[in-house]
Amino acid sequence: MDNQQKKRNVILIGAGVMSATLGSMLKELAPDWNIKVFEKLEKAGSESSNEWNNAGTGHAALCELNYTPEQADGSVDIKKAISINEQFQLSRQFWSFLVNNKRIANPQDFIMSIPHMSLVQGEENVRFLNTRFEALSKSPLFKGMEYSADPAKLKEWIPLIMEGRSSADAMAATKIDSGTDVNFGALTEMLFDHLKEQQVEINYKHAVKDIKRSGDGTWEVKVEDLANDKIEYHSADFVFIGGGGGSLPLLQKTGIPESKHIGGFPVSGMFLVCNDPEIVEQHHAKVYGKAKVGAPPMSVPHLDTRFIDNKKSLLFGPFAGFSPKFLKTGSNMDLIGSVKPNNVFTMLAAGAKEMSLTKYLIQQVMLSNEKRVEELREFIPTAKLKDWDVVVAGQRVQVIKDTDKGKGTLQFGTEIVTAADGSVAALLGASPGASTAVHAMLEIFKKCFPDEVGGWEPKIKEMIPSYGVSLSENPELLQEIHTSTAKALQLDEKSPIEI
Ligand SMILES: Cc1cc2nc3c(=O)[nH]c(=O)nc-3n(C[C@H](O)[C@H](O)[C@H](O)COP(=O)(O)OP(=O)(O)OC[C@H]3O[C@@H](n4cnc5c(N)ncnc54)[C@H](O)[C@@H]3O)c2cc1C
Repeated sequence: MDNQQKKRNVILIGAGVMSATLGSMLKELAPDWNIKVFEKLEKAGSESSNEWNNAGTGHAALCELNYTPEQADGSVDIKKAISINEQFQLSRQFWSFLVNNKRIANPQDFIMSIPHMSLVQGEENVRFLNTRFEALSKSPLFKGMEYSADPAKLKEWIPLIMEGRSSADAMAATKIDSGTDVNFGALTEMLFDHLKEQQVEINYKHAVKDIKRSGDGTWEVKVEDLANDKIEYHSADFVFIGGGGGSLPLLQKTGIPESKHIGGFPVSGMFLVCNDPEIVEQHHAKVYGKAKVGAPPMSVPHLDTRFIDNKKSLLFGPFAGFSPKFLKTGSNMDLIGSVKPNNVFTMLAAGAKEMSLTKYLIQQVMLSNEKRVEELREFIPTAKLKDWDVVVAGQRVQVIKDTDKGKGTLQFGTEIVTAADGSVAALLGASPGASTAVHAMLEIFKKCFPDEVGGWEPKIKEMIPSYGVSLSENPELLQEIHTSTAKALQLDEKSPIEI
C-alpha cells in the first residue's frame, strides 16, 4: 500500500449495510483515515438493511426471472444475470476475507445455504424457463442448476407448493443449491461492531440536516444530536450518503450538478410470515415466480425459507404499497419535499408514464389479508390465513431520472451518484442492493479515489481475489473461489460448482 497517500477525513451518513461495507473496506485500505458515522436511529441496520425489512436473498441471479428478459425472437438475454452473479461473487469473497481474518465471527449468524428456485406455470412460461435454463447452463456461473417439468421431481423439491395440485397443470422449475439467505441486519451490526473496535467514531441518534461546500473545497456537515437537542458541525474531505431511502434529500442538499434532475418514488412493502414449525419444515428453498403482467420487477412473488436468530421461518411476498415516506421511520412530507424546481418535470414525466404502476400500487394497498392469502395460495394451495402474520417491510425509493429512454424514467436497480471531483458519493435505489454492496463500493473507489485505487490494488486483491477478472470467463478461478468462500462462510452446498 502507498504510505504517502493523503490522510482524509471521511463522513459516512447512515448505519446501514452500505456504510458498513464502505467503512470496513476503507479501514483495510487506508487504516489511518479518520472515519465518522452519523445515524439518526439508536442502532445500526434498523432500516432497509434490517432482516425483517428485506427478503434476505443473496441476489446472484440464480432464481430472479426479471434478470433474464425474454427477447422478441423467444431467446433469453442473460447479460444482466451474469453481471449480477459476478457482483455477488465479490461480496462472498469480501465476507470470506472478513471471517478468515477474524474481523467478524460466526458466518452462520448472517449467511446460510438455501437452494434458489424459479417456478412457473402455463405452457408459455414453461417454454421460457426451459430456454432460460439452457442459456444459463452454458455459463460456469450457473453450473449445478437443474431443470424439471416432472410433477414427481417438483414434489420432491417443493412438497408444500405441490400439495393439492392437479398434475394436469403445466409447471416447471429450476433449482440450484448454491443459493444463500443473508441476514443483512446481522451482517450490518457485526460490521459496525468491528468498526467500533477499529476506533471509528459512530454517533447514533445523530441526524444529518445539511451538507454544504466550504470555501476550501471540503464539506461541512450539519448534524443534530437528537439525545441532547444540540446542533454540531463536522468537516470532511469525503462524504458518503448511505441514508437508504433518505439518501435523495441529502444528495439534493449538496447542490452538486449530479444531484439535479433526479427524483425518487417510494414503494412500501409487506410480507406474510409463517412461524409454524410443522409448515416451515415442509419447505426448504427460495422460490421466485414471475411478476404479473403490468407489475413492476420488485413485486415478483417469492416464497422463502429464512434463517433469523437461529430460527427458520417462511416469508411470502412482497406486497407493494404506496406511502409518501422515504424511510420506514420517515415523514409523510418526504415525497413532496423532494420535488424541486430542477426535478419537477422529471417527476411529472414519470407520473404520466407510470400510470400502470400507480394503478398497480393502489390495487395492492386495497388488498385485505384474505386477498393476500389468496395470492399466497398460487404458491401454497393449502395455505390458511391463521398460519400467516403480516410484517411491514422496508421502504424502497426507486430512482426517477432522465435517460436515453426519455424524461422521467423509473429505474429499478441500485444507482451510484458521485460528484465530479469525487468528494461526495450517494447510493440510491434498491435491488439488488445489499447483495451487491461490495461491487458498489469498488465502483465508488474508482470514481472518488482515482489517485489511491492503483496503490490499493494489492490489498483489494487480497480481500477480493477475483478483483478485475471476469469469473464467467475464468472457470478455474471461479471454482477455486467458490470452494474457498463456501468453506470460509460455512456454506453447506450439496452441489458446489464443478467445472
Ligand atoms: C422490501 C425490500 C426487500 C428487499 N429485498 C432484498 C433482498 O432480498 N436482497 C438484497 O440484497 N436486497 C434487498 N433489498 C434492498 C436492501 O435492503 C437495500 O439495498 C439495503 O438494505 C440498503 O442499505 P443502505 O445502507 O443503503 O440503507 P438502510 O439500511 O436503509 O440504511 C440507511 C440508514 O441511514 C439512516 N439515515 C437516513 N437519513 C439519515 C440522516 N439524515 N441522518 C442520519 N441517518 C440517516 C437511516 O436511519 C438508516 O439507518 C430489499 C429492500 C426492500 C425495501
